Amino acid sequence: MNYCPNCGSALKENPIYCPNCGQKLVHTPNEGTQTKETRQQIKKKMEEARNNELGSGILGIILGIGGLSFVIQRTVTIGDMFNFRVFMIDRSAIYGVIAIILGIILTGCADQYRRKHKELKNKLED
Ligand SMILES: [Zn+2]
Repeated sequence: MNYCPNCGSALKENPIYCPNCGQKLVHTPNEGTQTKETRQQIKKKMEEARNNELGSGILGIILGIGGLSFVIQRTVTIGDMFNFRVFMIDRSAIYGVIAIILGIILTGCADQYRRKHKELKNKLED
């Protein structure tokens, strides 16, 4: 049987508040530790989000620029026709296009991670 540390009345089960005097019965030190752990977890998640943001952002930009320059390389001017330049794009340029698309997707992912980081930061400041 537990007793309320404030008024000494016997407690059935494990209430959060003493039904007699209203004393909070959850140990404060435990609560403090728990809050600290949660904050640490949030900070860890924030760090992960930031790393993912940087990783996918940098990779996305590299793929985008690389893909674009690849497509430009594969584009050949084959002549002028009625004062219009005629281009021919090599079929292998499709790999450049794929790289550009992947780059765009990764940049989008980076934005999602940036938002997640911001969300977690707000949570931490609450
Ligand atoms: Zn009490």
